Amino acid sequence: MPHLLMIGECMIELSQNNELGEYKQSFAGDVFNTGVYIKRCLKESAQVSFLSVIGQDKMSTQLLNLMASEKIDSHYLYRCKSNKMGLYIINIDQYGERTFDYWRENSAARQLVKFIKQDTDKMDFSFVTTIFFSGISIAILPTEDLEDFWKFIECRRSSGCQIVFDPNYRPALWSSPQQAKEAFEIAYSLSDVVLPGVDDHKNLYNHQSAAEIASHLEAKGINEIIIKNGELGVLISDKGQRTQIDITPVKKVVDTTSAGDAFNGGYLSARQSGKSVRDAVIYAASVAGCVIQHKGAIVPKTSFSAAITPLVWV
Ligand code: ADP
Repeated sequence: MPHLLMIGECMIELSQNNELGEYKQSFAGDVFNTGVYIKRCLKESAQVSFLSVIGQDKMSTQLLNLMASEKIDSHYLYRCKSNKMGLYIINIDQYGERTFDYWRENSAARQLVKFIKQDTDKMDFSFVTTIFFSGISIAILPTEDLEDFWKFIECRRSSGCQIVFDPNYRPALWSSPQQAKEAFEIAYSLSDVVLPGVDDHKNLYNHQSAAEIASHLEAKGINEIIIKNGELGVLISDKGQRTQIDITPVKKVVDTTSAGDAFNGGYLSARQSGKSVRDAVIYAASVAGCVIQHKGAIVPKTSFSAAITPLVWV
């Protein structure tokens, strides 16, 4: 059975949900959201674990409760005494425009590499078949910890684990575009499957089209390249063979938060279940299409299961 290890940060989310300015609390983080969607798509056909650091406070314990309800394994979650989870607020102005404020500079998740290195119980990663991380997962790590993070990924890869990377470029998290590029080049060189968005590469590499991004990544020898371009479709490069897949635009988009995360979850689930790259993209688009018709990064379970047929591992 596939065992996917999601590496990243989950934060406390506060979103303004009515005219009175009241806030609703939930949890979200790009890689974490993807993990939730994988588990919802594959159910008992896969184990999904979250590798991160949270605090020892009540809010962190609530995340554990959420993980239990989503059947995400928390065995690889370290708990830190000194730091707590990061937090962000979604503000919505009078025109419906959303802005984000973050409190994540001292979040527990930034200490991940230290925890892995100091782990006295030496967690056993040998059962993990796929590792997924993003540009955000690495942007939050102290620069001096990156070297050890790459060693960890390299070590798992050489043990036969598949490595999946989504650059999810967030300029504010990097000290310079150059620093992000250097990290992305290493991440790409260690990856078997990559899931960039056109905007990520437009902003960082000045690539102007999905085709230009495909050329850049094919030259690195990556066999499975999935380039997301919102409602404009998806460009696949499957062992160098390119196919453009059109997406049926959703008529009533409610909230595109986590569209890419949901797409990644659907895609990885479908691949684990044995679908072709092309069919996995079609399934992924249906998952993302469902998620953007609801508010929030993680849509209610009932709405999800009404729209998406789960997959089985064969
Ligand atoms: P990101 O959230 O990473 O920027 P995209 O905007 O490319 O990612 O969206 C990810 C996926 O979500 C797309 O590949 C597509 O499947 C789906 N999607 C996004 N916007 C729409 C839309 N308006 N209609 C239908 N599907 C959409």
